Amino acid sequence: MQAPGFPRTELHRHLDVSIRLSTLHALAQDRGLVAASTSLAAFSDQILIREPMKDLASVLGSFKICQLVLDRPEVLERVAHEACEDVRAEGTSAVELRFSPTFVGEFGKLSWSDQLDAFEAGIRRFRDSLGPTESFDAGLICIVSRDYGVEAAEETVDFFLKNEGRFIGLDLAGNEIGFPNRMFEGAFARAKHAGARITIHSGEALGPETIWSAIEGLGARRIGHGIAAVRDAELMAKLRSDDICLEVCPTSNWLTQVVPSLEAHPLPQLLRAGVPVCINTDDPTLFGNNLPHEIDISKRFLRLTDAEVSLCFEHARRASFLPQSACP
Ligand SMILES: [Zn+2]
Repeated sequence: MQAPGFPRTELHRHLDVSIRLSTLHALAQDRGLVAASTSLAAFSDQILIREPMKDLASVLGSFKICQLVLDRPEVLERVAHEACEDVRAEGTSAVELRFSPTFVGEFGKLSWSDQLDAFEAGIRRFRDSLGPTESFDAGLICIVSRDYGVEAAEETVDFFLKNEGRFIGLDLAGNEIGFPNRMFEGAFARAKHAGARITIHSGEALGPETIWSAIEGLGARRIGHGIAAVRDAELMAKLRSDDICLEVCPTSNWLTQVVPSLEAHPLPQLLRAGVPVCINTDDPTLFGNNLPHEIDISKRFLRLTDAEVSLCFEHARRASFLPQSACP
């Protein structure tokens, strides 16, 4: 692993898809989801997406295994603790971890409150293990999942508002096609009214108009991915003037075929146009990536200079929903 060059802040990492592969393998075997004879290497081949995906169906099995193993409080506690260990080992000092209560709870019996208690406990245990001079902070973002529909979205916002002090922000994620932002305006209006810090997955699979609706219709202060902004000069000016940061995830965008190749990724163009952008991992369990890897490919394939990489982390620090004192 690349040695940490400077303190980093990561804004976009899905906790429910950040399960260490060795842990996922052991948990899946324990539950009979894979044969006891399946090696970690064979299991990794089954789970990891190494080439651009042909279709969404090809990764649904990997998502489902993550959902099926997140079935007990002690598992969620362990996953959150290990995610913090991994993030820290990558040289990150402040991380925002997000999870979707509807996604985690889809097949199991864990209540949303039990999920939140367990994830928080894992983060707390990690923090408590650090020495007094070690600086590390992690915060949780609550995800509203588009694919479960408007009623579930309203319930998720209720859950978020009830536990607002325990989350640092609210997100909308999932399939943009078929579940447009306008469906969720009512739910997000309530969160916005309550002063929630909002980030919205948009401008990933669809065009810049979805970023406009995330900002104007849903109150987004940051955008997950948002790379379609590069096609709209007026939108880039808006992102610049309102300091709305794009949480860019290069490997994710390549593997989900949002960009044709890493070399063609628009992150450098956005950055050089003065748009606040930062570098993130998205779903480490599926992509087998980490933040040092994203930095490495940003330099090698996207051709960012060291100074430009540093600027991305400056953007992340400034845009973080964590207390500014926590961000290096
Ligand atoms: Zn994401």
